[in-house]
Amino acid sequence: MQNESWLSRSLAAVWHPCTQMRHHEAGAQALPLVPIQRGEGAWLYDFDGRRYLDGISSWWTNLFGHANPRINAALKAQLETLEHVLLAGFTHQPVIELSERLSALAGGALGHAFYASDGASATEIALKMSVHAWRNRGQTQKNRFLCLEGGYHGETIGALSVTDMPLFRDAYAPLVRQSGTVPSPDFRRAHPGEDAVAVARRAAQALEAALAAGEGNIAALIVEPLVQGAAGMAMYDPEYLRRARALCDQYEAHLIADEIAVGNGRTGTFFAHEQAGIRPDLLCLSKGISGGYLPLSIVLCRDEIFAAFYDMETRRGFLHSHSYTGNPLACRAALATLDIFAEDDVLAANQKRAAALREILAALAEACPEVRHPRQRGMIAAFDVATDDPAFSRRFHRAALENEILLRPMGNTIYFMPPYIVREAEIAFLGEATARALKQALIPKSSG
Ligand SMILES: *Cc1c(COP(=O)(O)O)cnc(C)c1O
Repeated sequence: MQNESWLSRSLAAVWHPCTQMRHHEAGAQALPLVPIQRGEGAWLYDFDGRRYLDGISSWWTNLFGHANPRINAALKAQLETLEHVLLAGFTHQPVIELSERLSALAGGALGHAFYASDGASATEIALKMSVHAWRNRGQTQKNRFLCLEGGYHGETIGALSVTDMPLFRDAYAPLVRQSGTVPSPDFRRAHPGEDAVAVARRAAQALEAALAAGEGNIAALIVEPLVQGAAGMAMYDPEYLRRARALCDQYEAHLIADEIAVGNGRTGTFFAHEQAGIRPDLLCLSKGISGGYLPLSIVLCRDEIFAAFYDMETRRGFLHSHSYTGNPLACRAALATLDIFAEDDVLAANQKRAAALREILAALAEACPEVRHPRQRGMIAAFDVATDDPAFSRRFHRAALENEILLRPMGNTIYFMPPYIVREAEIAFLGEATARALKQALIPKSSG
């Protein structure tokens, strides 16, 4: 079997991300490592011909399927024209067009686009831009940030300062300048009698208290609009964003929308913040923006922020760079992705897919008494599983693979985040396979 040989070579030479490597070698309960040979549409295939439905869009990146013919064709043409050129002192067609189109998608409110290669770098850029913009305006005291409980904005040292995930942060605590954390508006935290709007208002009151206590030193609040992904798909009402926008204006702090996971149509609108009828001051994009093809991240900013840097003096400029800033291939993949959104009216078509997701969620909640808090926002559906088995997530992941689906629970939360080419029959398959995997993973340990 070819899989076996790739597997052992990978374990010997590759340090896999977000993984305790020893879990791959723990015998019968081991975390599976799956060598993938190729992908097509919503499916991944291993070297032995087994297939897996990509229920999480390969870590929330893939929007229009693996080996998408339209994105492939655009990339091949770009490859023949220009693979890369530095973006300092030079410019090129894909980066110009992408910047113009993203600005238009944001209603013209966010007029300049700054480029990097991954989500964490976009967070770093947004934080630096915010503080530097205040500094250029003479407000050097504004250098602290607020973030949400359970918020995730990446894992570089600066991004960890606004990421409230002890598991990712604790080992590096001495390196990290911790930001203030305010309560999450997660609607699972409702007190008896409260609805999602009431939870959002209560969380906004706590935000106001934190901004007031910040005594004018808060440069920015950073949030994941509508869905806190890594927190376990914690969802909240748009009312929180409306209040946060008003409070940031009142206390003169920037609002940074980290739409790395929730942008690109994931929540039903192209940008998640649109559902609150607001615009952020800084907007971070990555993951799906290149269709899941190439590493690309973008920070869009308001004209006032750009203007704060615009000067003849070098040091007042934003002197941040990455070698691959604005890589033409990655920008071309993003343009091809935006073309598909426009040509196929994807947001409208996704409403049907979202309805199919809602159906499998309801069926799972009905069939399985351990399902808690089924919830959905557009093309993200999630539920929690009532179990105290600490190995549940690994057991379920393995059982899911045995049922031909790729799902990676976060703790006890199982979520679906399929690409936007998934067919209704495939969504039904996802539901049925999940029900089977859930049964297998929940079998008492003595018999499993
Ligand atoms: C994934 C993610 C990031 C980090 O992106 P990387 O490319 O993994 O560095 C930041 N913020 C959010 C909301 C994310 O989901």
